[in-house]
Amino acid sequence: MAPSPPILQVVFDTPLRRRFDYLPPADGPVPAPGARVRAPLGRRTAVGVVAAVADHSELPRSRLKRLTGVLDPAPLWDPVTFALLLWAADYYHHPAGEVLFAAMPAALRAGRPAWQPDLSWRLSPAGHAALATGPRLGSRQRELLQLVAAGAAAAAITSAGLAATLRDLARRGWLESVEHAPPVPDAGTGSAGPELNAAQAQACAAIATAPGGYAAWLLHGVTGSGKTEVYLRLIERVLTGGGQVLVLVPEIALTPQLLARFRERLPVPVVALHSSLGDGERLAGWRAAASGAAPVVIGTRSAVFTPLPALALVVVDEEHDPSLKQQEGFRYSARDLAVARAQRQGVPVVLGSATPSLESLANVASGRYRRLELPDRTNQAGQPRLSLIDLRHHACRDGIAQPALAAMERHLGAGGQVLVYLNRRGWAPTLFCPGCGWVAPCRACDARLTVHLRAARLRCHHCGAEERLPFACARCGNEVRPVGEGTERLEATLGELFPGVPLARIDRDVIRRRGDIERALEAVASGRARILLGTQMLTKGHDFPAVTLVVVLSADQGLFGADFRASERLAQQIVQVAGRAGRGDRAGEVLIQSAFPEHPLLVSLITEGYTGFARRALDERRAAGWPPWSHLALLCADGPARDEVYAFLRAARELAPVTGRLRLLGPAPAAMERRAGRHRARLLLESPSRAPLQQLLSRWLPALEGLRRPRGLRWAMDVDPLEVD
Ligand code: ADP
Ligand code: ZN
Ligand code: ZN
Repeated sequence: MAPSPPILQVVFDTPLRRRFDYLPPADGPVPAPGARVRAPLGRRTAVGVVAAVADHSELPRSRLKRLTGVLDPAPLWDPVTFALLLWAADYYHHPAGEVLFAAMPAALRAGRPAWQPDLSWRLSPAGHAALATGPRLGSRQRELLQLVAAGAAAAAITSAGLAATLRDLARRGWLESVEHAPPVPDAGTGSAGPELNAAQAQACAAIATAPGGYAAWLLHGVTGSGKTEVYLRLIERVLTGGGQVLVLVPEIALTPQLLARFRERLPVPVVALHSSLGDGERLAGWRAAASGAAPVVIGTRSAVFTPLPALALVVVDEEHDPSLKQQEGFRYSARDLAVARAQRQGVPVVLGSATPSLESLANVASGRYRRLELPDRTNQAGQPRLSLIDLRHHACRDGIAQPALAAMERHLGAGGQVLVYLNRRGWAPTLFCPGCGWVAPCRACDARLTVHLRAARLRCHHCGAEERLPFACARCGNEVRPVGEGTERLEATLGELFPGVPLARIDRDVIRRRGDIERALEAVASGRARILLGTQMLTKGHDFPAVTLVVVLSADQGLFGADFRASERLAQQIVQVAGRAGRGDRAGEVLIQSAFPEHPLLVSLITEGYTGFARRALDERRAAGWPPWSHLALLCADGPARDEVYAFLRAARELAPVTGRLRLLGPAPAAMERRAGRHRARLLLESPSRAPLQQLLSRWLPALEGLRRPRGLRWAMDVDPLEVD
């Protein structure tokens, strides 16, 4: 008797958790796990991924359908990466189909071939003329021409059922085909780096001489201590052995210098993967990584899923940075997955930061990670001096206290550059009526609208709503007034206070297009701009050698945040922005304005530095039972009606098999209870250890899925959430 054909378990890009069983196509080879296939799903045909091959199904074989096509002759991912993806779906309790599709470049999601050179179509001059002015077109012809004009992929045209129309119009000469060879980036020159200092050499040696295999290293180096140089040396060493390297960074668009440095130093093609790439570029980079043509991949969080068959080293730069966590859809921590990936691959992972997360410090304390320290800057300037300005005792001009102004004058006078940090964009955070006390609210959120004066708009920074900026109060007719300050207002104020001193502002309102950040950074690097003003964008890894003074305008926003991580975030931001000062050969000075200068967080930061702060913060977390001393999962729900959201969460709570030391808290409102017209609430699950939490989630999630959901209600599970408010 012939052996019966295998059963293929397929997942689709849908929120369904289950796998669907199929028989292989009538002819051709059986697709491997990790390959895309076409399969009948309900009444349509959908692209899915083979998750596993099994030898039996719960359904009788006679009821199983056949796959209608196999898109990939080989799996899309190397075995370790594919196993990591399926594990991540389990760990984060997210549907495997959505996880696998989220891990693909958009072009592959759309069904384009992974390996053959792409064929795409463009309008010929005759095609353009036909679309613009030509004879009356049939609706399919028009649809096709519009699709092609919009740059649609060949696969999209086929799946829109327009293949025959395409052949017809190509014959008429209205369309031309274009073939793209996937470009591989050029290799750098491999220019030599500086001689390592003792701490750098020690760090490199520790990692290089460790027995092979998995090890997690926390490279804790103050800003400007030469962490990047350590990464580069480790990477060079791996490259000579023929290995591949994955480098994760929080942001690439904002840090062009970093990518340029990697490209210049490493004598191999370096692929960058990030969200501002076009689909084609992204696919090309992915192919170069998967084929081994590019030994180094540097990318933002989703790059952690890039296939790298010869992966030999993983680096996570700025491992504390919240943007390494995906906060929507499939919610995952790219840092944690990078560690899990290194472990599965049996290779070292280096987590670098000047302000390590408390989780990573706890992992050092427990022996899971090993710490390497770079205590000094590579230059002679030493660490910047931090001091506080007590806002209760000094007059302010638009948020700048007198001693800060005096210091700015001094530093500018001595030829230094000054960095002013205010993590709030717009002109003012509030529009206020002195006549009746009215404050301009967002209609869709529990939030105020921010005044953007130059654009003459009120904007909600939470939902994007906009209105015209009114002159008079809608309630009493009085003249309204912007209260408080954002970077837009400060730019004007600093222009008045320091006339003729050129200023560069860096925030999301002015840095919007490709090239904006390069231009702003160039103005600073060349010395054309003397004052730098900006939000968090400024704190991301930039090197401003001539900045000698940093002024933190308001430390108080983070001091009393509702979230248990608020103080950690604030300390990291202050230390990171302080680290921009004095990176050249002059010592830096950092002034932090606060109305609460006795706050223990600020005091410990100033007197003991980040390490002292972190020790204290870890003790506080332990006392309160917060992570890293406990493990959390957050069930977030939102919907158009408040009652329904709460009723859903109460029903969800009833279904949770809570036992032992697990605790389930809530339903409780989110810190911003209403956002974009939706009411938001949560259940918080807390456990002293991971295993029982995972066990509960495995049983709870399927039950939640079966729960009746009122119209418009959405829910999501966030395992290891970054924010719980
Ligand atoms: P980090 O990543 O810790 O902020 P970088 O690696 O960017 O530090 O180094 C900061 C600056 O010091 C860079 O301009 C770098 O070129 C330079 N640098 C790094 N290591 C050395 C060294 N051993 N000797 C001299 N300069 C160095
Ligand atoms: Zn009024
Ligand atoms: Zn809003």
